[in-house]
Amino acid sequence: MNYLRFFSSLKSQFPSLLIKKNFILAPLTTLKIGGPADIFIQTSTNQQLIKVLKYIFNCRSLKSPITILGNGSNVLISDSGIRGIVIKNTSSNIKILPNISTPLNTNTPTHHLSTRHAEYHPKQYLSLKNKDYDESGCPQVLVQLDAGTPLPYAINHLIKKGITGLQWFAYIPGQIGGAIWYNIHGGNHHISEYIHKITLYNQRTQKLETIPATNFKWNYDTSPFQKKPHLIILSITLKLYKGNTTKAKNIIKEWITQKSKIQPTNSAGSAFKNLPEKTTVPIWGQHKPTGWIIDQQLKLKGKQIGGAKISEKHANFIVNTGNATAKDYLKLTKLIQQQFKKHWNINLPLEIKPLGQF
Ligand SMILES: Cc1cc2nc3c(=O)[nH]c(=O)nc-3n(C[C@H](O)[C@H](O)[C@H](O)COP(=O)(O)OP(=O)(O)OC[C@H]3O[C@@H](n4cnc5c(N)ncnc54)[C@H](O)[C@@H]3O)c2cc1C
Repeated sequence: MNYLRFFSSLKSQFPSLLIKKNFILAPLTTLKIGGPADIFIQTSTNQQLIKVLKYIFNCRSLKSPITILGNGSNVLISDSGIRGIVIKNTSSNIKILPNISTPLNTNTPTHHLSTRHAEYHPKQYLSLKNKDYDESGCPQVLVQLDAGTPLPYAINHLIKKGITGLQWFAYIPGQIGGAIWYNIHGGNHHISEYIHKITLYNQRTQKLETIPATNFKWNYDTSPFQKKPHLIILSITLKLYKGNTTKAKNIIKEWITQKSKIQPTNSAGSAFKNLPEKTTVPIWGQHKPTGWIIDQQLKLKGKQIGGAKISEKHANFIVNTGNATAKDYLKLTKLIQQQFKKHWNINLPLEIKPLGQF
């Protein structure tokens, strides 16, 4: 079956869904960069998503790659777009599960993962880490969230219900699925600390699987899903707390106030990862975040190629000044990477995820 026939058959099979061909993806990203998807499908429930995935699978002759897009806040989509099918799922149910009678095993493997000074300010580190407090003594509660739930909505909705734990991730503009895919960090915390289990759709077996978080290996900015694109996250169950909502609200307020001063939203978040803590160079003194090195050592703040610019507010953020292309953005990242290699023989890894052909 060719694309055009497949497109028509999809539309007649799923008349209520948004299904478009040659659909420009830039507006679906925070960077506002990116060309078209051959076919774009938007689903609003996990049931719809599963039906669509099964239908595509059964059109075996199509052999079309499938890319899942969350809120597009961590991706750089190629100017030529993404070949095959791109699916955005906005399923956003939140279910608070019945009380837990016995304490859960909180021995999650990532409790003390270093967050590598993720937040940086020209004059100071954002002192978000110092505001940390322990909630492990609070009663626990299990909450199931669909992968398409916007993280800021989940944080606020749960606080209103007296549930805390996600406050450390305020100001991160992703969906829950993207947050898990990336194992987001905020303050001293990674989201993997809170995961109890994950429900997936396995595109190889075409089956649903529910897997305890402890079966997966998590790390700084790393989840098992990054190497397993056949696994689509449908929902997760988090272990959260019936904690102090006033304290949690104060953290949210402070995070948003501090971060909004230095983290431009016309970006894809940090362009590069921070280096492991053992990676240091004498001239830097102690371990330093990537933004500090780009700013204070390479003096590249404000450097612009085409419409892409190293932010004046935060040197690890590359912003779209209005008409940036993916090519402009990548040229800037290459320039920075070359400087790291030349001066310190360091291979600086990207934090953003390029999608499509470059
Ligand atoms: C202003 C700003 C601030 C930020 N601050 C932080 C921060 O403090 N900490 C931090 O860690 N990150 C931060 N980020 C980066 C980003 O917001 C997070 O990584 C976010 O969780 C990405 O989620 P998303 O839904 O936007 O994913 P997308 O960018 O849409 O996708 C990212 C990857 O996840 C995959 N994916 C998405 N959903 C699924 C799914 N259901 N199943 C399988 N794969 C999936 C996609 O295919 C893609 O490869 C920031 C970004 C911005 C713009």
